[in-house]
Amino acid sequence: MTDTRSGPPTANFIRHIIDADQRSGKHGGRVVTRFPPEPNGYLHIGHAKSICLNFGTALEYGGRCNLRFDDTNPATEDVEYARAIEQDVRWLGFDWDDRLFHASDYFEQLYDYACDLIRAGKAYVDSQSAEEIRVTRGTLTEPGQDSPWRDRDVATNLDLFARMRAGEFAEGEHVLRARIDMAAPNINLRDPTLYRIRKVPHHRTGESWHIYPMYDYTHCISDALEGITHSLCTLEFEDHRPLYDWVLDQLDVPCHPQQIEFARLELDYTLTSKRKLLALVREGHVSGWDDPRMPTLRGMRRRGYPPAAIREFCERIGVTKKQTVIEFGVLENCVREELDRTAPRAMAVLGPIKVVIENFPADHTEWLEAPVHPKDTSFGTRRVPLTREVWIEREDYMDDPPKKFHRLAPGREVRLRYGYVIRCDEVRRDAAGEPLELRCTYDAASGGGQTADGRKVKGIIHWVSTAHALPLEVRLFDRLFDVPDPGAAEDFRDHLNPASLHVVERAWGEPSLAESAATTFQFERLGYFCRDSRDDAPDRAVFNRTATLRDTWARVKNTD
Ligand code: ATP
Ligand code: MG
Repeated sequence: MTDTRSGPPTANFIRHIIDADQRSGKHGGRVVTRFPPEPNGYLHIGHAKSICLNFGTALEYGGRCNLRFDDTNPATEDVEYARAIEQDVRWLGFDWDDRLFHASDYFEQLYDYACDLIRAGKAYVDSQSAEEIRVTRGTLTEPGQDSPWRDRDVATNLDLFARMRAGEFAEGEHVLRARIDMAAPNINLRDPTLYRIRKVPHHRTGESWHIYPMYDYTHCISDALEGITHSLCTLEFEDHRPLYDWVLDQLDVPCHPQQIEFARLELDYTLTSKRKLLALVREGHVSGWDDPRMPTLRGMRRRGYPPAAIREFCERIGVTKKQTVIEFGVLENCVREELDRTAPRAMAVLGPIKVVIENFPADHTEWLEAPVHPKDTSFGTRRVPLTREVWIEREDYMDDPPKKFHRLAPGREVRLRYGYVIRCDEVRRDAAGEPLELRCTYDAASGGGQTADGRKVKGIIHWVSTAHALPLEVRLFDRLFDVPDPGAAEDFRDHLNPASLHVVERAWGEPSLAESAATTFQFERLGYFCRDSRDDAPDRAVFNRTATLRDTWARVKNTD
């Protein structure tokens, strides 16, 4: 695995902690991290922050990062999600080598450790109902009350726990709880539940377990068993850290990892709750987990976001303990910068009107040469065919233009990019008076190829030969939500942007699009577009707009 990020890492408080640990020799100088997704949904941009942080930090310090599925809730988890998560982490550019682990790999050890806790008087089987447990937990201002079962003897606890495991009891009849302190100011320490009965088959362990360990109990022990040194998690786990440490302190585990919390990524106009994303998919508000409007890694991949841009974004936003909301434009700028460097250029016309160049021979094709990339000659050149009839954007023509409009109008001149200067002599109209076709003449002495003759015309427009044009379907996207914080709304469905998808059913592209091995292009003057991985076919070219050329994210509109 190599570090593919562009710049040197920026300092952050986690790097400071690790640097100090390295100086003091804590953890023997090792850095071992893990990315611990629950396989109950697809990864989203928030997870990317955690992936880049965990894998990136390990890379930087010559350490290791494990991929560990936190698969302790069989009711919501599925192998489909697990496989997709593996693919998405790889796509983002990271690799766990042979260190793919599952919390379910540790079920037997976790059970043994729970028996150790029982034997030490640190855990007991509680036979209260879930509701009784809830109401006796107390509040922030009032202590909780001890369970009537709190002082069961060790033998009874071990026996009941074994029978819970064997499936003798119904769900909810008993739970195993830690025996800590029902008056603890931190509610997480008021005898938290460690195990509950779930009569649900698990996607890896099948029917062999009837009890499943809770996250807080599982996570710290899994970390310790894997020799994790720095267990990086999001801020909401800060209050759980005393429990993380308590569990490890009671047990004879191989090591005691340090939990460090950081602020989760929040992006404006974006939902990052798996539950809500699932609702968007299930209820058909989007076409699937990989809908290009989704903040999932699959969606962004299909939209054409390069993984390097996402990594750069995660580096740029940094890692802090202060919760902030990042503007979506920051991510888009990373995408633009990456694609500006890497995307071949091509011309496409999204809202066409026909231009007929009357003094250009009818059966002639002139092949003009154009650079594939304006700033990087290593991309080479492409051949662009010019014929008597070309498509230009309807927006590049006005009947009665204002002074600053440097494009086509009656009697005005404009340069066809890489080609000649044309003048609009006549406008043919439909019955309603709308322009249908522009009759133009070209100045044969005005250039062609890459070099112009020095004639100064202010406007240069893109165009596509009608005879050589590839028919394209182009999908333009706007924000999926029309409020900055859809997650805070009572119902995020009320804030879906009805105009988040606009399909241009018939656009035209230059022929080099069909010959290029690339999938993402800059359509000159329009933005970045990528072939749709699902719907694109040899006889049907479908492009998604990845990003506009400038920060016009709010508008579904061509740029000029
Ligand atoms: P769940 O509610 O299902 O637990 P989750 O978003 O926490 O949802 P996990 O699969 O548990 O999903 O997440 C895996 C890892 O990614 C966790 O360590 C989690 O803290 C981290 N993570 C999730 N969302 C974000 C986010 N928005 N920013 C940074 N890290 C995140
Ligand atoms: Mg989680």
